[in-house]
Amino acid sequence: MKKIIIIGAGIAGLCAGVFARLNGFDVEVFEMHSKPGGQCTGWQRGAYHFDNCIHWLMGSKNGLPLNKLWRTVGALDDSVKIINNEIFATYQSGDKTINIYRNLDRLKAHLLEVAPEDTKEIKRFCDDAKKFVKLSMPVDKAYDMFTKRDMFQLVFKMIPIVSSLRRYENISMGELAARFKNKDLQRAITAIIPSQYKASSLPATLASLHDMDSGWPQGGSLAFSKRIENKLLSLGAKLNYNCRVSGIIINDGKAKGIMLQDGSTHSGDHVVAAADGYEVIYNLLKGQYTDETIKTLYSDSKAYPVYSSVFISLGIEADLSNYPTPLYFKLKTPIDTGGQIHEFMTARHYCFEPSFAPPGCSAVTILFEADYDWWKKKKENPVQYKYEKERITEEVIHAFTEKFPESNNKIKKIDMATPLTYERYCNAYRGAWMSWAPTPGAKIRFITGMPQGLDNFYLTGQWTMPPGGLPTAVMTANWTIQRICARENVRNFFIDRAV
Ligand SMILES: Cc1cc2nc3c(=O)[nH]c(=O)nc-3n(C[C@H](O)[C@H](O)[C@H](O)COP(=O)(O)OP(=O)(O)OC[C@H]3O[C@@H](n4cnc5c(N)ncnc54)[C@H](O)[C@@H]3O)c2cc1C
Repeated sequence: MKKIIIIGAGIAGLCAGVFARLNGFDVEVFEMHSKPGGQCTGWQRGAYHFDNCIHWLMGSKNGLPLNKLWRTVGALDDSVKIINNEIFATYQSGDKTINIYRNLDRLKAHLLEVAPEDTKEIKRFCDDAKKFVKLSMPVDKAYDMFTKRDMFQLVFKMIPIVSSLRRYENISMGELAARFKNKDLQRAITAIIPSQYKASSLPATLASLHDMDSGWPQGGSLAFSKRIENKLLSLGAKLNYNCRVSGIIINDGKAKGIMLQDGSTHSGDHVVAAADGYEVIYNLLKGQYTDETIKTLYSDSKAYPVYSSVFISLGIEADLSNYPTPLYFKLKTPIDTGGQIHEFMTARHYCFEPSFAPPGCSAVTILFEADYDWWKKKKENPVQYKYEKERITEEVIHAFTEKFPESNNKIKKIDMATPLTYERYCNAYRGAWMSWAPTPGAKIRFITGMPQGLDNFYLTGQWTMPPGGLPTAVMTANWTIQRICARENVRNFFIDRAV
């Protein structure tokens, strides 16, 4: 059987491996890190586990098309409990509290109580969001393999929401927030999705929550990744960790294999690159196979921005389970995370996960948007870089203990990641947490991942379909293997038809 080499064991790489094995290909994966999952990960510090990724998982609801994909790759099954908290997030400022309820009717009633001055806008927004529930994007088949019938079905599905969609497609989250008069409500909604993002992201997310999708899979991100790794190994794939790919072997316009940093070479019939997009396109392929879409995505940072973060994790010998999670609250003193001043903090405790902290203790993570260039500059001077990490950690702990007084003198583990940490561990372009953010007015651009002039080579994962995220990783992995099946004239397991 033909062999597929996969670069990267993030979610896209692992899933591509599973789909490839299910379609009968030999599979060998090369990952630079020592563990699976890429950005979908978590780390242990003493008795505490800190989760890096899943805040909400689209496709967690049994029966949805995306759920079928997660089950196929082994990420979810009936033994994995899905937690769908009634309150998705809580906002607090002074004596004001706003709960983002999962149920849209409950949310509407609550918002009308909190901000009666915005009655008209709240009703319109919540009613619009409900219409998005009916919108389920096709996940089974690559868009470039769509037939006219598939296209017609997609357009037909969109009809009921077109008028609502138009109200959010061309404005940002900040502009959507400004439609409300109530300042707390304005801040609460931009706490869920950043203010620069396209506003349609919010009704789509709330609709998914209302539909009892987008839950938390028990065990968290690393356990999620490990289940896919297990499935891949059980199907007979070979997985190599601590193997950084440094080049693609190309002969006569065809990818023939890869070269590792240690100089060894490995050949295959197809090469699937599920690593960071910039690394693949500009480093491994030396920028020789770009096109207009790729050039625009990587150069027009106004229309296609990427965002990174500082991520502070705290292991606390105190039970914080009575607090809402995540809690977005106003700081008494703003915190500067490097070129960005924050007046609010989002703290997320995981007391609902017994394996994340000893009994009576709490694992907490705090994420702030941060400027990659600022941190890159600081890194040039290791003393300054260390100083800034310590300064921010100290300020965060001070603000945190003010809000959660039980934590005072009870913080036993502290961990801090900067944009450069994500770059170091995952090779993430500009330390980004996802790929290009959707901004209003920017044309939707996909990378098919099949560079012109280079056969047998495929790019997959979050950098082929903005804005990325876990659903993109599994969907694009499936589509890439469908393209290879089409090339090899193999009947595709998943779409169950000869292609
Ligand atoms: C803080 C945070 C919170 C998030 N929250 C959510 C959420 O709630 N919901 C959601 O859907 N998504 C979320 N995401 C985004 C999600 O984690 C990513 O979109 C997804 O994991 C991307 O998967 P991927 O496989 O495409 O890429 P990656 O995870 O980047 O995987 C790429 C892999 O390739 C490896 N690699 C890179 N270069 C090389 C090389 N040269 N040789 C060998 N290996 C290489 C990397 O080490 C990595 O393992 C979050 C991300 C972050 C950081």
